Amino acid sequence: MEKKIIATTSLAGCFGCHMSVLDIDERILELIELVEFNKSPVDDIKTFTKPVDIGIIEGGCCNSENVEVLRSFRKNCKILISLGECAIMGGLPALRNGIPIEECLNEAYINGPTVGLNTQHILPNDDELPMLLDKVYPCHEIVKIDYYLPGCPPSAELIWDALVALITGSKLDLPYEVIKFD
Ligand code: SF4
Repeated sequence: MEKKIIATTSLAGCFGCHMSVLDIDERILELIELVEFNKSPVDDIKTFTKPVDIGIIEGGCCNSENVEVLRSFRKNCKILISLGECAIMGGLPALRNGIPIEECLNEAYINGPTVGLNTQHILPNDDELPMLLDKVYPCHEIVKIDYYLPGCPPSAELIWDALVALITGSKLDLPYEVIKFD
């Protein structure tokens, strides 16, 4: 069977979902028989070098760079998966959505109890830095998402079963125990 091409990224995520992918443990040896990784933090490929079959997104969108990367995944991947609660609904980072962005920045860089050295009260303003969005957005509010794998992080069993089903075209029969939302 021809290997499927996979790409992954972490947007406003914590890399915990990627760690859960690695939690498939020794089955990673079976996985690399089935797939070839393209752009992903698990290798050193920074830009897409070929069309991708399955794109896996961890994290929602909290800044302009996240949006750009997510759109490039949609453009380059036939199937896009939101992996984990952050990608699906913003996750814990979306707790900031009820607080004005200016208040968040002032607390982080000026008023917070651990802000010691910023005596000139400067907010980060270099052009190289991506702009924070007004709130944290789930991926499906930016691009079309084809599949959702819930959990914070999703269990390795869920990731494995879902990936194998997608790659081989077999029926996905998920037992209740492998699906969780926490
Ligand atoms: S869903 Fe949970 S584990 Fe995954 S990126 Fe978000 S916080 Fe981390």
